[in-house]
Amino acid sequence: MASIPDITLNNGRTVPQFGFGVFQIEPKDTVSAVSAALEAGYRHIDTAEMYGNEAEVGEAIARSGLDRADVFVTSKLSNNAHEPDDARRAFDQTLKALGTDYVDLFLIHWPLPTRYGGDFVATWRTLEEFYREGRARSVGVSNFQPRHLRRLHSETEIIPAVNQVEVHPYLTQDELRAFCAEHQIAVEAWSPLGQGNCLHDPVITSIAERAGRTPAQVVLRWHLQRGDIVFPKSVTPDRVRENIDIFDFELEPADADDITALNRDERTGPDPDTFAGQ
Ligand code: NAD
Repeated sequence: MASIPDITLNNGRTVPQFGFGVFQIEPKDTVSAVSAALEAGYRHIDTAEMYGNEAEVGEAIARSGLDRADVFVTSKLSNNAHEPDDARRAFDQTLKALGTDYVDLFLIHWPLPTRYGGDFVATWRTLEEFYREGRARSVGVSNFQPRHLRRLHSETEIIPAVNQVEVHPYLTQDELRAFCAEHQIAVEAWSPLGQGNCLHDPVITSIAERAGRTPAQVVLRWHLQRGDIVFPKSVTPDRVRENIDIFDFELEPADADDITALNRDERTGPDPDTFAGQ
């Protein structure tokens, strides 16, 4: 298998462009799922406090026998922990659960409307502390719109290394991605398969048939060729292996354009402009 490319972040650190997401994987299934992913060659795991499975992610990495430095680990701050002291406690708890003294990337999971008590600028300054302490090797945000990013730009010091947002063929996010590119913020595409929804689209199935690949491989390849970072989720070992087997082919530019043209601004998850957390 050809190797997974790295993306260089705005602070000079690198992240494998392809990884494994563990949203909605039950804690009881997480050790085996992450172990299968590490076994298949994944070296980047995306979790969050709100997923409830950080401890199991940490356990799978420890059991793998891999060096900690060889696995890129991301976690995210819970929506109920935006207050700086809560964020400090939550971050300590994340490191403890993962069984590590640093994460490679720590994100504000959702900006939250300020009327719900969130003040993502104060929260961001707390993440800047974690970065300066070296306990978060990079810091970033998730589900931020340009207006949120503009506030961070004018009121804080560190530019987020990444913005992790929903992106898939039915939600191509071209304006937000262009804004991030202009500000040296790498884009991480969450729900890269649209949670499976776009895999039966006739445009995608016909490209897959011609390429001799599966629809999931075609969609993941489309993301990579656009330059985004992806971490599809699956608990099925065959799919875990299928999803990483995408580094020995390329989509024709015209096919990639046809996939981009499927955009219909359709979200599978909440809208960051209205989502107030759970
Ligand atoms: P996804 O787009 O990765 O889809 C996962 C689903 O697609 C699986 O449950 C399975 O049903 C199907 N699937 C996976 N591989 C397949 C294959 N080869 N063939 C057919 N079907 C297949 O959706 P996701 O899990 O929502 O997103 C991936 C990751 O993104 C998450 O695990 C999480 O790490 C991250 N995420 C972040 C946020 C955020 O707010 N920051 C929100 C959602 C997800």
